[in-house]
Amino acid sequence: MDASGLPLLDRRISDCRACPRLVSWREEVARAKRAAYADWTYWGRPVPGFGPADARMLIVGLAPAAHGGNRTGRMFTGDRSGDVLYEALYDVGLASQPTAMHADDGLELYGVRVTSPVHCAPPANKPTPQERDTCRPWLVQELRLLRPTLRAVVVLGAFGWQAALPAFAEAGWSVPRPRPAFSHGARYPLDGLELFGCFHVSQRNTFTGRLTPAMLRDVLRTAARAAGLPATAV
Ligand code: SF4
Repeated sequence: MDASGLPLLDRRISDCRACPRLVSWREEVARAKRAAYADWTYWGRPVPGFGPADARMLIVGLAPAAHGGNRTGRMFTGDRSGDVLYEALYDVGLASQPTAMHADDGLELYGVRVTSPVHCAPPANKPTPQERDTCRPWLVQELRLLRPTLRAVVVLGAFGWQAALPAFAEAGWSVPRPRPAFSHGARYPLDGLELFGCFHVSQRNTFTGRLTPAMLRDVLRTAARAAGLPATAV
């Protein structure tokens, strides 16, 4: 497969119903809604990756948020985590605007794609190991499609790291044993790419200052430069 297959993959992901618990949760949340979004028609389906098919850099999160991606249908769009991530991407010159409000807001990513190892919003933001493993083939296919242009991968958080490394291996990438350990700022060469670790942009991390905007921008800028993207200094 080549990069032209990515839109097709995204459409197939959007139709997936492989995890009964997650299907029921994402659809129940979409029916019940949050009061602030009562006039929205929630997406209520799996959320595919977002960004160009010829991306040089990939950001791997965890899973869509119930009232974020599960509402808007676009990865990291419409929640606080996305606000932090997209503002940082804009700051380093990798996004066309600092905000991500809805799927038709005009946001473009420059050379960067954002995805997750689990494509449906899980209760309490916690997919089960079985759900993570069931969703892995989607990430594996996405990695294979992106591989020809990809030069750097940033994984957000330890859970994403644990989910992503087996997917890298399954996609045919050579992953060292023992597997590289996650930490914020970690940087490893991986099968001709550069792999970076970054604390997740969750509210728990950003509200407490565990992950500051400066720390996030640093990782994104370093990864972008490793990928050959023209990241700007802030
Ligand atoms: S989490 Fe992944 S495998 Fe499970 S239903 Fe959603 S898209 Fe399908």
